[in-house]
Amino acid sequence: MRPKNDCVPYILGTLIRLILKPGRETSVLRRHPWLFSGAVASLEGDGSDGHAEILDAARRPLARGAYSAGSQIVARLWTFRGGADERAPDAALFRERFAAARRLREEVLPPETTGFRAVNSEGDLCPGVLLDVYGETAVLELLTAGTEAWRADLEAAARTVFSPPHLLVRESGAARDAGKTDVRAPGSEPALVPFLENGLRFVADLAAGQKTGFFLDQRDNRARLRALARGKTVLNLFSYSGAFSVAALAAGAARAVDVDSSEAALALARENRRANGLAAPDEDFVAADVFDDVRRRVAEGQRFDVVVCDPPAFAKKRADVDRAARGYKDVNRLAMSLVAPGGWLLTCSCSGLVDADLFQKIVFSASVDARAPFSIVARQGAGADHPVSLDCPEGEYLKGIWLRRLQ
Ligand code: SAH
Repeated sequence: MRPKNDCVPYILGTLIRLILKPGRETSVLRRHPWLFSGAVASLEGDGSDGHAEILDAARRPLARGAYSAGSQIVARLWTFRGGADERAPDAALFRERFAAARRLREEVLPPETTGFRAVNSEGDLCPGVLLDVYGETAVLELLTAGTEAWRADLEAAARTVFSPPHLLVRESGAARDAGKTDVRAPGSEPALVPFLENGLRFVADLAAGQKTGFFLDQRDNRARLRALARGKTVLNLFSYSGAFSVAALAAGAARAVDVDSSEAALALARENRRANGLAAPDEDFVAADVFDDVRRRVAEGQRFDVVVCDPPAFAKKRADVDRAARGYKDVNRLAMSLVAPGGWLLTCSCSGLVDADLFQKIVFSASVDARAPFSIVARQGAGADHPVSLDCPEGEYLKGIWLRRLQ
């Protein structure tokens, strides 16, 4: 392919060069892996193979990465000048990075756990790539147009390093570039895939499920719930496939009620209870809007020993943050009113745009309105298989606060 720009003396494959505006190299020099299109002065080459080279205004090379033409984040940077990794991303680099990710999981995963995040994007120096393992099936998700272009080599690296009996690939990058936040890649994959988490049996719904089929990031919070749930009543709001309830019931909780607007999610929740030999009475599965459901329960004066509130991300873009804050406050105020004195509220937010400080302020103001005193007993986000790069703190999205109602 010929370069579109005659100034380019040569091109390597179809590499694109992104030349930065003067002074815009700071974040790259700090190894931040996201390059925003506003920092780019000019482009040379076409980048259709997904490869981008970043140069400062004086044309000194700074970094290499995956190119996403239509995205605000025009490149995700994988290697940097002056780093141990000063090289072009290629199949060998993908294998090395995946192997390092695998070694981390070997050191941090609890026993009897075959469902885990095997590669976590920036946190494993693989921006734009997720790999989730569910028992015998791995799901490789390519989150950007650039990593989609690298599919063959990334797929090969996943097979070599993790040897999954089944590997599914989801390409959501182009759709995300087009501004879609809720991307569901079509697939002919097997629907329900079994795996273990801390010895409990779950299924991930890979065909129609959310995320890549299960919320692996809540493993540590489920373990904490399990440790305190014996004999308790549990209200599991935004339950999805009921995994919190399974953890609680396995520990001998008296009862757990799952509330979710999705009938399909509740069907999975029943399935997950049965797979663990737990009873699944109809009244424990409530298909409803959580806001309506908790309002009704508050009006009826219901109380639970433990309430789990783990909603979907209310803020997916910056313009949503105010509205999201109101949503979090409302649902937390109502959830707090349902917690018995001496009981627990686990409240979570997975909106990256609502940071830990803001989330805590929202929860505080909910407690003022609920007229209920709570203490923070623990903060716990995603498990150790969801590492967050210090270079890219934006990767830390899940906040979980364990609150004890004092009276
Ligand atoms: N806690 C779950 C994950 C929750 S994901 C786990 O650990 O697996 C968020 C869930 O909220 C989804 O299942 C979605 O169907 C549900 N949901 C979103 N908005 C809702 C609403 N207004 N009322 C009830 N459920 C809702």
